[in-house]
Amino acid sequence: METFIGYRCSLCCTEYLPTQVTYTCPKDGGNLDVVLDYDAIRKAFHPQDILASTEQSLWRYLPLLPIQDPGGKATPLRASGWTPVFRLERLASQLGLKSLWLKDESRNPTASFKDRASAVVVSRARQIGAEVVVTASTGNAGAALAGMAASIGQKAVIFAPKTAPPAKVAQLLIYGARVLLVDGTYDDAFDLTVQAAQEFGWYCRNTGYNPFTAEGKKTAAFEIWEWSLQHRQELQGQRLTIFVSVGDGNIISGLHKGFKDLQALGWLEEMPRLIGVQAEGSAAIAHAFHAGTETIKPVQARTLADSISVDLPRDGVRAVRAARETNGTYVLVSDDEILQAIAALGPLGIFAEPAGATAYAGLVRAVHQGLVRPEDPILVLNTGSGLKDIRAAMQAVGEAPVIPPTLEAVRKILYD
Ligand SMILES: *Cc1c(COP(=O)(O)O)cnc(C)c1O
Ligand SMILES: [Zn+2]
Repeated sequence: METFIGYRCSLCCTEYLPTQVTYTCPKDGGNLDVVLDYDAIRKAFHPQDILASTEQSLWRYLPLLPIQDPGGKATPLRASGWTPVFRLERLASQLGLKSLWLKDESRNPTASFKDRASAVVVSRARQIGAEVVVTASTGNAGAALAGMAASIGQKAVIFAPKTAPPAKVAQLLIYGARVLLVDGTYDDAFDLTVQAAQEFGWYCRNTGYNPFTAEGKKTAAFEIWEWSLQHRQELQGQRLTIFVSVGDGNIISGLHKGFKDLQALGWLEEMPRLIGVQAEGSAAIAHAFHAGTETIKPVQARTLADSISVDLPRDGVRAVRAARETNGTYVLVSDDEILQAIAALGPLGIFAEPAGATAYAGLVRAVHQGLVRPEDPILVLNTGSGLKDIRAAMQAVGEAPVIPPTLEAVRKILYD
């Protein structure tokens, strides 16, 4: 059944047929929302069909995605999504909150949230017969594209800033992508990727440019919806508040799209509040939100959280709306607070990269600023694995002592 009926520009609202455009609005460069035939979906599917699915990946939501089943079984591409939700009891009581959960996106095949987008874009690429898929990336989007593409034998080209953390660059190379390190910022790599895609006829995955990335990312909203239905008792009818770190703004707008899809289908009981968290040094979207405008002014990004270090966010308008339309807000955190958040999550068995821990850092700020109430059920997303950036991790914790191999030395360390 074909339920993908077109695109709608998020700025001028012009509608396009699926075959008319590929990336952004030809009139104003606005981000395009994928338009689905909700009536047809509602007629063909009942929420129960999805809740009863045995597929433990984002592919359980295929009826709500604008792509065909990419086929293949037991590949990393089939394993994206369906990440666990952990209860953070000790941190909840430290913060005086009644209930706190963390959805751990580092459990995706290439260890970040970006697998959701890349799985869907790679499937789209296969469907339209694209030979090569290219993306600009600070690391994770590239690793996700490289990994998902590799798993079905698709060619991938990645442009990353040469400052990308070495573990991420290693991942790109290991998955066999063509990797080009750009002597410039992520924003430079972004513009170069768009030009190269045009020049060489590649399919471009760029975040906030290709409309299918948000369609992949919205699957996290579907999972949170299912999870809320299963945790009705614990949520006690209270509205869920979700904290998510924001760089280009595509994760938060993808989540928003997912919840809006569910709302349009009549399947959502209550729209969760979306709270975006940005690093103080890379806060173009938060600034626009608090200025009450949708005009995104670029900044000179500076933060150790490389995955959210962005001068000009490419999905800023929809990211501002995601918070505004859900009665959410934007919170800013310093790099020190991000490091403290990494150190706070570790002892619960959660190892986050800086941009992953940023959401939790934002929650701590929000509690101190009185932006959430003690009874509000809270879900924070950890968007990426700490193994991706060991240097930042080591900054968050002290050095381990080196001792001679004697019991005496152990005793000395333990009791002195
Ligand atoms: C990409 C990324 C983000 C931010 O997502 P945007 O869509 O750029 O806002 C946050 N955390 C991690 C780990 C990421 O890789
Ligand atoms: Zn437009």
